Amino acid sequence: MNSSPWILPQTAPEAEPFLDSFGLGRRLHALRKARGLTLAQVAEHTEVAPSQLSMIENGKREAKVSVLQRLAGLYGTSLDEIVSGTPDHRTELEVELDAAMRSPLARAAGLPSIRISPRTPTEVLEAMVALHRELARQAELRAATPEEARRANTELRRDMRARDNYWAEIEAEAARLLDTVGYRSGPLSERMISEITAHLGFTLAHVGDLPRSTRSVTDLRNRRIYLTRATRPDHNPRSVLLQALGDHVLQHDRPATYGEFLRQRVETNYFAAALMMPEASVVQMLTAAKAEKDIAIEDLRDAFGVSYEIAGHRFTNLATHHLGIRMHFFRVHESGTIHKAYENDGTPFPADHTGAIEGQVACRNWTARKIFDQADAFNAYHQYTDTPEGAYWCTAHTEATPAGRFSIGVGVPFNTAKWFRGRETRNRHRSTCPSPDCCRVPPSELMDAWAGQAWPSARAHSHLLATLPPGAFPGVDETEVYAFLAAHHDSA
Ligand SMILES: [Zn+2]
Repeated sequence: MNSSPWILPQTAPEAEPFLDSFGLGRRLHALRKARGLTLAQVAEHTEVAPSQLSMIENGKREAKVSVLQRLAGLYGTSLDEIVSGTPDHRTELEVELDAAMRSPLARAAGLPSIRISPRTPTEVLEAMVALHRELARQAELRAATPEEARRANTELRRDMRARDNYWAEIEAEAARLLDTVGYRSGPLSERMISEITAHLGFTLAHVGDLPRSTRSVTDLRNRRIYLTRATRPDHNPRSVLLQALGDHVLQHDRPATYGEFLRQRVETNYFAAALMMPEASVVQMLTAAKAEKDIAIEDLRDAFGVSYEIAGHRFTNLATHHLGIRMHFFRVHESGTIHKAYENDGTPFPADHTGAIEGQVACRNWTARKIFDQADAFNAYHQYTDTPEGAYWCTAHTEATPAGRFSIGVGVPFNTAKWFRGRETRNRHRSTCPSPDCCRVPPSELMDAWAGQAWPSARAHSHLLATLPPGAFPGVDETEVYAFLAAHHDSA
């Protein structure tokens, strides 16, 4: 029979030679399983030792015709069917259903199984086989989603890069709304946010039981936006509300594909940022800072009362379009996993076969990771990094979250570092990634001491787009593990 229980042969296979003991063994095994019999029970009926039967089923021993005849009688089939391997429709159904009911998929779903007997109606078998095939098909669809998600994300980033991450239409919508509420300069006040909400015809409700999986819920019929009363560490309440309004202003329909869902999220985030950090005000401030050679992301953060991440990300919207500065942006977990990344300056971010950067591991020598070695975790860290694509200067901060520490930063090509505060740093590192001897293979002295002697267990990370990076232990940084072992071994 076919190796996959889900696929029936398209055409009846040619009668196999009598001596194909493997195929014969598999058929006998399947027939026995389909009838729910143990080797011992079969041995009793056929007077062949269980160990002999097992060898026959495994194709390690040829069966005598007399034994096959007894087995055919016991299994309610013909010798011809056992030997030729062309079971009838009903036997096929029985074998397929038996395999499906025992599959890890069915067991994980907690599906009860039935005992297949000669009295089980064929149409019941047909219906159950169809259900199990559908279950397997659905599982395959779900398994394909992360791949689809990565492709959609890659496509979106390509689009963002092509427009230098500047969305003129969204800037215009934001400017129009800011105008209606009389915004002039500086941060957007709570009062103005309330006025924008009212202007768009919405009311607000803060509740204690907002679904954990949501940031906000909008009641479209009653034009009411529900927000959580609780403070969630990763949620800025102002941006959550503005994002909810963004879905309305940008006339988003229910997304039909994952790519559409991602695009809408990017657009609503952009909309919220464009209101919290209005284009005209930010550009005015950046232009003045550039003239002073004193651009700093933390100044944007402080001037507009937003997080460092929102300030850094907003910088990517406006710096190329208005100041002609090309740059990259990153958010990297302390484990090295890249959670967010954007570049239009040629930074050689690692990528998987779909082109996705998220989920890949950043070079150990980059600012995004070197920053975790700094004693002072709260001030800006600056670094020049020489890469195969040229030299870059980066500025970054760390942020502590319940999921661990993250580095967030912005970088520019060497020749534009002159506009930025922190350009005089003496921190300089060399990265030759993706060359394996840059940072992926542990240093030889650690390798010699510990290779083959470590059995680490990876921390599971749940980031939607994260894929486990390849390696002996997926998701585990061997250099770190070996260095850890070396340190603890020495102190023992
Ligand atoms: Zn590296």
